[in-house]
Amino acid sequence: MTIAAISTAVGEAGIGIVRISGSKSLEIANKVFKGNKVEELNVSHSKRLVYGYIIDRENHKLVDEVLISFMKGPYTYTREDMVEIYCHGGIISVRKVLDLVLKNGARLAEPGEFTKRAFLNGRLDLSQAEAVIDMIRAKTDKSFETSLNQLEGSISNKIKEIRDILLEMIAHVEVSIDFPDEDIEEVTYDELEESAIKVKDEIEKLLLTADRGKILRDGLNTVILGKPNVGKSSLLNAILRENRAIVTDIPGTTRDIIEEYVNIDGIPLRIIDTAGIRDTEDIVEQIGVNKAKETVEKADLIIAVFDISRELTDEDYEIIDIVKDKKSIILLNKIDLPNKFTKSYFQSIIGDKQIIETSIASKVGVDILEKSIKDLFYSGEVEIYSDAVITNVRHKNQLEKALENINQALDDIKNYVPIDCIEVDLKNCWENLGEISGDTIGEDILDKIFAEFCIGK
Ligand code: GDP
Repeated sequence: MTIAAISTAVGEAGIGIVRISGSKSLEIANKVFKGNKVEELNVSHSKRLVYGYIIDRENHKLVDEVLISFMKGPYTYTREDMVEIYCHGGIISVRKVLDLVLKNGARLAEPGEFTKRAFLNGRLDLSQAEAVIDMIRAKTDKSFETSLNQLEGSISNKIKEIRDILLEMIAHVEVSIDFPDEDIEEVTYDELEESAIKVKDEIEKLLLTADRGKILRDGLNTVILGKPNVGKSSLLNAILRENRAIVTDIPGTTRDIIEEYVNIDGIPLRIIDTAGIRDTEDIVEQIGVNKAKETVEKADLIIAVFDISRELTDEDYEIIDIVKDKKSIILLNKIDLPNKFTKSYFQSIIGDKQIIETSIASKVGVDILEKSIKDLFYSGEVEIYSDAVITNVRHKNQLEKALENINQALDDIKNYVPIDCIEVDLKNCWENLGEISGDTIGEDILDKIFAEFCIGK
């Protein structure tokens, strides 16, 4: 079936693109297109831009003036014959051209169906297809880069390497089971153990990248906490002024929580700015301590702000309690004013946490805060730039299952359990990993994955 969709965002723009894929692409294009110089599009025009008009031949009406490109498969995004029609941007033109294409034999593409075809036709594996959607959704340079690496095969290659080791193990085991008496080299428990350890190590290494991957993908969930008037808004504004990555107004989210994306030296921060901080200046006061605790629970990082020019109050102590066991950075703000307590006193009640003295109003200390955030992020053992970073929760879950199975196999190998039992775990592990690349995966999971895509991709 030949499919079609609008591939550009809806709205006013210079151009809008209608995309067609499938064996009837050329035939359909010729039904709606009339070239300025070219009579009919054919294979010789493949991958050339041709100028002309979209015509509704039924009622002899001109629909739009366009450029059209026919791309002969298999060297296309979907591996099928494809046509792209570059119309005038805006809602009317692309909509009309799409309707005409649909009337002439194409079916409206489902979300992600072009990419799904690319996967089903072997152009991309599943992890690469998933990288495509991550690239489109990326909100920071770093997350875009990671997704691009994944599209280039960083995950696929690693998974394939591990699966190859497993396959070799399985093959050896099967030979030993099938021909126990033959004089072929029998697999030894020692050999199996060595390979299993290698598989386990590789899976663990990938899993280690997952936390960082999540942050790269979604941003480091950051909450700024403090009682009224300590300088939270001033801090947020200071950070935003220099680092704002993108202004988001995500449909469907309530106005309770406003998210701001900032980029601190390549580290994406998603600052959860509860409306309370802005409107009544106080999250604790407005939404209550319990709710504040909940918000804090979900945070990867808390920046807790205290006013050093006023005596500490019960509210301050409550906040100290909340952040005590969380990853947090403490700011003692307004050091330009006479101090009411000392940093060392505060250190003695908060324990082993980093404290920075700031005067946000005069921009003192904000750079130190930014550096601390960076240090915190880079302090893990995992290299952020290692090219295979797991950013996808589905991949992480599959890796965890695979790890369980290889651990089981390792246990059995050490206990000299009969070899056919070990084979079951090896096969399971191989399949768990295959679900990441899409080599072993059910139709239902596939549908779910591609349903998350946007139309036209
Ligand atoms: P919030 O209620 O925690 O969001 O606090 P704001 O950011 O609104 O700041 C409260 C007041 O403190 C404002 O008048 C700020 O100008 C002032 N302020 C913020 N930071 C400093 C600082 O470092 N020194 C001084 N002297 N005033 C500050």
